[in-house]
Amino acid sequence: MQKDGLSIDVALGVTVPARHARGRAARLGPALDAILANHGYPPVIERLLAEALVLTALLGSLLKEPEGQLTLQAQTEAGIIDLLVCDYLGGELRGYVRHDPERLAEAGPKPSLFALFGKGYLAITFDQPQANERYQGIVPLEGSSLGEAAQSFFGQSEQIPSIVRLAAGKRDGQWFAGGLMFQHLPEGEEGRERLHTRLDHPDWPHVAVLAGSVRDDELTDPELPLDELIWRLFHEEPEVRILAPVPLRKGCRCDPDYVRSVIARFPEEEQAAMVGEDGFITVDCKFCSTTFPFRLEELGSATDSHR
Ligand SMILES: [Zn+2]
Repeated sequence: MQKDGLSIDVALGVTVPARHARGRAARLGPALDAILANHGYPPVIERLLAEALVLTALLGSLLKEPEGQLTLQAQTEAGIIDLLVCDYLGGELRGYVRHDPERLAEAGPKPSLFALFGKGYLAITFDQPQANERYQGIVPLEGSSLGEAAQSFFGQSEQIPSIVRLAAGKRDGQWFAGGLMFQHLPEGEEGRERLHTRLDHPDWPHVAVLAGSVRDDELTDPELPLDELIWRLFHEEPEVRILAPVPLRKGCRCDPDYVRSVIARFPEEEQAAMVGEDGFITVDCKFCSTTFPFRLEELGSATDSHR
């Protein structure tokens, strides 16, 4: 199925020099299934998290530093979903959703973004430790889909004309998600100068129409390599540059030794209160739904070894 490494669990950068545009395409397959399998969410939440993860891959693969981290967070006060968090580090993706299962069941099979989040916010954080750069933008979570919300993030928060398309669906019982993002670059390919951004730049509407014509089934088709997808959309352009692909995989940075060392610093009576009826202190990682049970005695040795 995967002939060339450009079809599944990969992000691909692209530039269209003559149009002053850059883009990203990404598709997730087995990595997505691996992330979703641990959580056991209802299908509505699985689809939303699948789209959020592919959006995270699109944005994260823009980072230049290998240690750069991108965090996407959608938050509300009274929504069915009160928190969605995904992050990206070096091609590794993870994410989770906190929601109210009873209210979700009442909302029917296809709730709108507004029905899920109510009045919410989308925060995107780019963190590049080597350059000591941290940037966070926050916009109201608006539009009919996560893709539209991301698009308005770039329009409002960064003032970069952007188009974002996301899709997710199941094929033969397996999840696939795909995404495409294009941005107008006013000052050269990777420029961050925004002084001369003009929303009515003649090249941009053309790029937006071509990129926006991508279909959901093209985005999620595991047999359509991403470079072919790009060519389909931009075949009339004199030059389209395909950049090096970024492989994507499930990854979590939870560390049982670290968890133990944190709990070892609590006062003894608080540690004792954490022990469950089964005799274990149980800590879970929300990102990957992994639980780390351990006994009080193991904490003692962790404390000693950290002195
Ligand atoms: Zn974890």
